[in-house]
Amino acid sequence: MFIQYYGTGAAVNANVDTTHFVIYEWEKRLYVDAWWWMSLGQRVLRGEITLPKYLFMTHCHTDHLMWLPFLIRVIWDGTINIFLTKKLAEKVKQIMYIVWRWERYEKKIETNNIVLHLIDQNSEIDIYDWNIKPINLHSKKVEQYWFQLKWSWKHIVFFWDEAVDVLNRNDLDSYMWCDWLLCEAFCAQQHKKKMDPGGKAHVTSLEAWNIAKQIDAKNVILSHIAEDIELDRSKQIDEMKMDMHSVYDGNVVIPKDGDVIEL
Ligand SMILES: [Zn+2]
Repeated sequence: MFIQYYGTGAAVNANVDTTHFVIYEWEKRLYVDAWWWMSLGQRVLRGEITLPKYLFMTHCHTDHLMWLPFLIRVIWDGTINIFLTKKLAEKVKQIMYIVWRWERYEKKIETNNIVLHLIDQNSEIDIYDWNIKPINLHSKKVEQYWFQLKWSWKHIVFFWDEAVDVLNRNDLDSYMWCDWLLCEAFCAQQHKKKMDPGGKAHVTSLEAWNIAKQIDAKNVILSHIAEDIELDRSKQIDEMKMDMHSVYDGNVVIPKDGDVIEL
């Protein structure tokens, strides 16, 4: 199984793309969120990237949802299955009514071009040979769901946005000893004062390593990293990796835009 990071940045960046990725194995593909910028959308239109069949939507912030209207518009045939909460589905409907035409949106639902699968923390999603369990982050800002994915003997845990307090608000047992933890990190610990991750419910890389240590994750991927105009991305990644040495001794990957990682 692989994960391709189209982008690795936080919400607003001048030089990197905002975090957006697809998990895949052969023809099996699960997209997570819809931060699709125009060049990526055009690659879909040219047939260079498969239109998502399965899409997991986590929450309604711009950096996660902004390109969903575009994606919905370009589904002409086939079906896109979207996993999202009832609240989020209502918001998507409102957005589509405003930026498109309500009857066209409803037609897509009626003809099963778009199939909305409503999830909550008790749901289980079975696609391909993957089992997905949503995780309610109990975020204080906006309702937000992430998930655990299990296939064959592997176990991946995702919470890569607003990871502040995530372990205090969730049952730790179900994440223990996961093979991969995908977590956010806003900046290295030394820039905490300047970047103020806590003010945005984000964590530093040191705090992310602490999360990884607490659940004994074997491997960690960090993304959703804020752009620091005073630092080049490679330097920034080195600093974030340096944070881990005193805390966490598992394997770590901090990708750049476009990187593919084998899970
Ligand atoms: Zn975000």
